[in-house]
Amino acid sequence: MGSILDRAAARLVAGRWIAGTRADDAIRDAKAFNSRGIRVLLNNLGEAYRSPAKIDSTVSNYMYLINNISKMKLGAALSVKPSQLGLRISEKELERNYLKIVRAAEKNGIFVWLDMEEHDTVDSTIDLYRRSIKYGNTGICIQSYLRRSMEDEKQLVEDGGTIRLVKGAYTEPRNMAFQSRAEVTRRYSSMMGYLFEHASAFMIATHDMRMIGKAMRLEKRSKKRAMLGMLKGIMNRKAVELAESGEDMNIYVPFGPDWIAYSYRRLTEAGHTSLILRSLMKRQSISA
Ligand SMILES: Cc1cc2nc3c(=O)[nH]c(=O)nc-3n(C[C@H](O)[C@H](O)[C@H](O)COP(=O)(O)OP(=O)(O)OC[C@H]3O[C@@H](n4cnc5c(N)ncnc54)[C@H](O)[C@@H]3O)c2cc1C
Repeated sequence: MGSILDRAAARLVAGRWIAGTRADDAIRDAKAFNSRGIRVLLNNLGEAYRSPAKIDSTVSNYMYLINNISKMKLGAALSVKPSQLGLRISEKELERNYLKIVRAAEKNGIFVWLDMEEHDTVDSTIDLYRRSIKYGNTGICIQSYLRRSMEDEKQLVEDGGTIRLVKGAYTEPRNMAFQSRAEVTRRYSSMMGYLFEHASAFMIATHDMRMIGKAMRLEKRSKKRAMLGMLKGIMNRKAVELAESGEDMNIYVPFGPDWIAYSYRRLTEAGHTSLILRSLMKRQSISA
């Protein structure tokens, strides 16, 4: 995946975006963000697993986190990827692992988000999510770049689901996804409008300040409070400001040794090279 240079660049930036290799690194970050009034979404890095040993160890890490979040009373949710819990083996295996985590989290009052991955996993992910809405502690990510997403959003809101709205991070074919940034942002904006009108709990997960500004205006107008979400290491200082101004701010904190795929996605986010360099140079107010 990529040249030696790409790998070197990914390693360089990974340190800013990722808590560390161990679950305890994520717990340390959770404490640091919590102390600034920010909640976290903890994700054990790793995807497209076919190895039962890797899947089992991922599930164990999430169980470890559930125990510690509860014991330490952290403001933390989990965010899990279907393809790290068995999707590439079978939907049955995925459901078994996912529900194990959801049930343990529910007992401890912890929320579990389902990440959304490539377009060919969307049906399975949504079906799985539907089967877990009844637990009351689950949410799902929906990507505005997919042509189908507006319909998915409407259906899921009707079903009582909790949505985390993002633009989308994977390279997808034209027939599945809008390609222009302007179109993806337009869709994001109208999908956000729908959530404010029809949903009760949802997360606006973006670093796009125009979209965050719109969310804040809609909060005032609708008297609804959205959760705001950002990724660790991209706009930490802005996140602190938003939390201090009273917003329900959440930061996605990934950890684990399998950091390469995640770092590539951040690195290749179109047109961001200079921003990445800038964010590397800038001292951020939270070391987390
Ligand atoms: C909490 C959270 C959870 C997410 N979960 C998922 C998921 O489950 N599935 C999925 O496909 N995607 C997920 N994403 C990623 C998302 O899809 C986008 O890829 C990512 O957020 C960048 O898009 P944007 O909305 O910030 O807008 P953009 O228009 O891409 O960026 C807006 C501005 O943010 C800043 N910025 C964005 N990215 C970077 C960067 N890498 N380096 C420096 N500056 C940057 C820049 O100032 C840029 O102009 C998640 C994002 C967040 C915040």
